[in-house]
Order: sequence, then structure tokens, then C-alpha cells
Amino acid sequence: MWKTIKQWLSGAADVVMPRLCPVCGKPLDSDEKWLCRRCLASLPRTHYEDVNFNTMEQHFAGKVPIERATAYFFYEKGSPYASILHDIKYHGTPKMGQWLTARAVGDMAGSNFFDGIDVVTAVPLHRSKLAHRGYNQSEYLARGIADALGIPYIETLKATRPHSTQTHKGAMERWLNIQGNYALNEKNASRLTDKHILLVDDVVTTGSTLTVCSTLLKTIPGVKVSLFTLAAARLE
Ligand SMILES: [Zn+2]
Repeated sequence: MWKTIKQWLSGAADVVMPRLCPVCGKPLDSDEKWLCRRCLASLPRTHYEDVNFNTMEQHFAGKVPIERATAYFFYEKGSPYASILHDIKYHGTPKMGQWLTARAVGDMAGSNFFDGIDVVTAVPLHRSKLAHRGYNQSEYLARGIADALGIPYIETLKATRPHSTQTHKGAMERWLNIQGNYALNEKNASRLTDKHILLVDDVVTTGSTLTVCSTLLKTIPGVKVSLFTLAAARLE
């Protein structure tokens, strides 16, 4: 009976203030969670997890030794699917991200992508940004995966200094600038010896943040690192 009342209430709430699909803007049905069925079905998947030495893995090759890398879907600036990332980051709906990454685990079940992963972790957010935004969207994404796989989420890294704007910097300058932004979370590092860690972030564009964070994780003895992002720009 409670279920019925709850369903009726959420149905009524949808009439008063309809929940909208962030991609197409149409009102969601009561059985649609965060995205409408159509937009979910046409999610521009990368399918990187099905490809040996895929584009994302090639992008990191020679920079930091990683095991595997994948992204759930492609995004381009201004594309309707980019609004998912924007909403997760700025519009207070990180739970949509958590829901999407749990779905990604199901969608990727046919690949061996998550085989042997022991621990899930996230690219950290500096405390000044955390105070401003109230949450780290990448942590929600990582927790969605950890819960779906039934393995622990552990904070392995910390952001030691806030990100400065990167837009006008060259690749080398950007790299040097970003390098001092992160450090290992020493408190947890001792538990990670010989573990295969899945490092999660919302997007991969230049890959410099993921490279710096992976390099730090690789200083822990015996650690393997794989990468997962919710979205990827079309990498060259
Ligand atoms: Zn839609």
C-alpha cells in the first residue's frame, strides 16, 4: 500500500512540477528515472571496453602504465548529451551520475572491463570547490560503480590546491601546473598495496588530470590502475 501511495505522490508531483529529460527536455514518465527511454537508447556509447588497445588506452600509452581505460559515452561541447555532465556538476544532480555509472556496469557486463578490479576511487576535488559545490561529482560516479560491483570505494587521493583555469595554457605549462594539484591520501595508501584500482572521473579531454593521478597511484607498490570516465571527447 505504501508503494502505491508513494507512486501516486510521485505521479502527482510530476504533474505539478514535471521532471524533464536533460537531453531532449521532454517530461519524464513516472517509470523513467533520470533520462527518457529514447535518449537513453541513443546514448552515443564509445564501446571502448570492447576494443583492445582502444583510442583512450592509446592516449595514455607512454605517459603512465595503465591496464584498461573506457568511457561510457561521447560528448561534444554544445551536444545535447553534454547537458548530462553539466547537470551532474553544476545543477546538484550527482545522483543522476551515480545511476548512470551503475547502468554502465550492467551495459559493459559482456566485456572483461571490470574483471579483477579491487577498489574504486575518484579524482578528488579541492576542499574550496567542495565547500562551494557541496559534493564531488566524480565520487558519486565512482560510488555508482563500486556499489554495482559490490567492491569498496576508497579515497586514495587528495586535491592539495585548487585548479586554476587551464584554457589559455599550452600542453607543457598545463602539465606542470596540474602536477602539484594532487597527492596520495597517505592514510589509505598502505591498504592499497597490490590492488587493482579503478580511477573514475566525469570526463576525459586532455587526460592530464588522469595522468597525474594515475602516476601518484602507481607509486604504491604492486598497484594496477584502470580508468573510467562517464564521458569522453573524441580523442585523437
Ligand atoms: Zn530525452
